[in-house]
Amino acid sequence: MKRVGVFVCHCGTNIAGVVDVARVAEESRDFPGVEYAADYKYMCSEPGQDLIIKAIKEHKLDRIVVAACSPRMHENTFRKCIEKAGINGYFVEIANIREHCSWVHTTEKEKATEKAIDLVRMAVAKAIKDAPLQKATIPVTDRALIIGGGIAGIQAAIDLANAGHVVDIVEKGPSIGGKMAQIDKTFPTLDCSACILTPKMVEASGHPNINLLTYSEIEKVEGYVGNFNVTIKKKARSVRMDVCTGCGICTEKCPIKTESEFELGMSQRRVIYTPFPQAIPNKPVIDRTKCTFFKNGKCGICSRVCAANAIDFEQQDEFLVEKYGAIIVATGFELFDYSVYGEYGYGKYPDVITGLQFERLVNASGPTAGKIKRPSDHQEPKNVVFIKCVGSRDIAKGKSYCSKTCCMYTAKHATLVSEKIKDAKVYIFYMDVRTAGKGYDEFYNRTRENYNANYIRGRVSKIYQSGDKLIVRGEDTLISQPVEIEADLVVLATAMVPQLDAAALAQRIGIGYDKDLWYTEAHPKLAPVETHSQGIYLAGTCQGPKDIPETVAQASAAAAKACGLLSKTEMLTEPIVSAVDEKTCAGCGLCVPICPYKAIDMKAIQERVQGITIERKVADVNSSLCQGCGACTVACRSASIGLKHFTDEQILAEVNALCL
Ligand SMILES: Cc1cc2nc3c(=O)[nH]c(=O)nc-3n(C[C@H](O)[C@H](O)[C@H](O)COP(=O)(O)OP(=O)(O)OC[C@H]3O[C@@H](n4cnc5c(N)ncnc54)[C@H](O)[C@@H]3O)c2cc1C
Ligand code: SF4
Ligand code: SF4
Repeated sequence: MKRVGVFVCHCGTNIAGVVDVARVAEESRDFPGVEYAADYKYMCSEPGQDLIIKAIKEHKLDRIVVAACSPRMHENTFRKCIEKAGINGYFVEIANIREHCSWVHTTEKEKATEKAIDLVRMAVAKAIKDAPLQKATIPVTDRALIIGGGIAGIQAAIDLANAGHVVDIVEKGPSIGGKMAQIDKTFPTLDCSACILTPKMVEASGHPNINLLTYSEIEKVEGYVGNFNVTIKKKARSVRMDVCTGCGICTEKCPIKTESEFELGMSQRRVIYTPFPQAIPNKPVIDRTKCTFFKNGKCGICSRVCAANAIDFEQQDEFLVEKYGAIIVATGFELFDYSVYGEYGYGKYPDVITGLQFERLVNASGPTAGKIKRPSDHQEPKNVVFIKCVGSRDIAKGKSYCSKTCCMYTAKHATLVSEKIKDAKVYIFYMDVRTAGKGYDEFYNRTRENYNANYIRGRVSKIYQSGDKLIVRGEDTLISQPVEIEADLVVLATAMVPQLDAAALAQRIGIGYDKDLWYTEAHPKLAPVETHSQGIYLAGTCQGPKDIPETVAQASAAAAKACGLLSKTEMLTEPIVSAVDEKTCAGCGLCVPICPYKAIDMKAIQERVQGITIERKVADVNSSLCQGCGACTVACRSASIGLKHFTDEQILAEVNALCL
């Protein structure tokens, strides 16, 4: 017979202010199997834990129930506590009488107490059925993979590399740098983005512990924490990186031009190109979709002019399979496609541009060498209208969330217009001004007071052309008056959205995403850089809109978490995983697609049936991948897959304790 001890926590007044804790302890003494029950102010405190250890020894207890807060808070604390007393850590059950009783039934003290007693009764019934579980150890590969080479990926890589770990950055574009490479100056200090980013890019590329895999993508992620096997596709650059000197003569001589993605369509690039002058690596790539040699075998000028013989039209995509202990996802964001706002003249008016296009217009290395000129006629605009929240905070046409950076970068843009065009007039249509951040509100106030930016609270209903002007029609909701402004240039602060392939990548690597396709963290407050897949972390805007300081802070946090994992040679695995009963498993495979962590495979087993050896398939759980969610257990029609510590017998014991 098992000897159960029940320990009821007051949690200060959190529980004891509503639940009659003494009565809960008193009544639990009568439950079958209970040998000892007590209540105490803070069970998780050192004296509280000592009380449990002492009671285990004195009363020879072998199963423990702690009636306290959520198991997410202190289950681990109590597992460690009872291990100190010499019993298996999985012999503790938590009855959550805080979140499930006192916090939700504050005005119903009697009912809350009765519910607490029921929860303890159920926990005691389950504890009696608890079986000992042991953690296993798995080796950890000391190498990290970072997906995405924007500022988040670069910062995380540098932090990990400086801590002595080898890091590979996989960047899908030809260069690292991300959006920060396209930005001109950065709020709130207005320091030049390239001047603070380029040294980081150089540091990453020259670091002995960092390998850059640009123009590369993730094909497949297999394995589990500490032991990921990742297939990386290195797309053919058509340029041999080992011999190319980066002289640029091929780019200069290439006769074919196409729209530059880096300049967001506002200037052209050659078909063999480096995306921007400070690109890293500063070696070109041939855009095969536009190159005439790949289209019809004609041209080949680049190959003839290249003294290093670096052009390789035959180059093939390469597939590498590498092993990693940790993965940091830092794939960043994209801009909302504002074509749904037909009223803003998408594609119709060249002088309606996005905020990121404005960054290029105002940038000294941009298409106009930093002079603000209208795309339509290259004239300097005098009246510039900014429209905020284009696609943000708009459930009807856009996204429900706030893009967080637009208020600040629009204030920055207004400042830059006023600095560069002395007689310019700036109008900003806004819904709210959100400038929380160190020095942010001061920056916004300066924009209004020192740079005469005219903030108009209201939405724009229409933009239309009149002569060489754009008429912006809206409403000033503070004075309930319609307004019309003649604009030379209109800049839209479009919402930040996830990468187009965000969902596909998440499914490939086995992480979650929310309704908007931002990657989801394990816990919004307590695990903001971890994902639900152990060993995979998030950094930067792939998790949601962020400015650079927040992105960098999160990247360093993700690196610190990865460091903690990589600095061990082996790690313990959680034993609450699924297990298959091979005798009854019908091999239907229903559980395989259900598992969100790709932890189940089918395997062949051999059996002797009536003297004959037959082969049949059964499900097989990889216990390192299994996260113990239990999804598979409900999918199995023959109940052949069960979750350890939550077996049918244990769950039924709880149900019976409540109902019988
Ligand atoms: C107009 C504008 C102005 C801004 N101005 C400021 C400012 O002044 N100050 C400020 O603090 N913030 C500013 N921001 C915000 C800033 O741009 C972001 O905080 C920052 O760029 C986020 O960095 P990131 O690394 O998370 O993402 P990104 O910069 O988007 O980098 C992500 C990288 O991952 C790569 N990638 C994507 N998918 C994959 C994949 N599947 N495989 C491999 N690689 C992949 C991308 O190619 C890219 O290189 C501004 C934003 C905008 C739109
Ligand atoms: S072969 Fe292609 S990349 Fe090379 S010069 Fe000609 S068009 Fe440009
Ligand atoms: S419990 Fe089942 S579904 Fe959940 S992770 Fe483990 S094997 Fe996959």
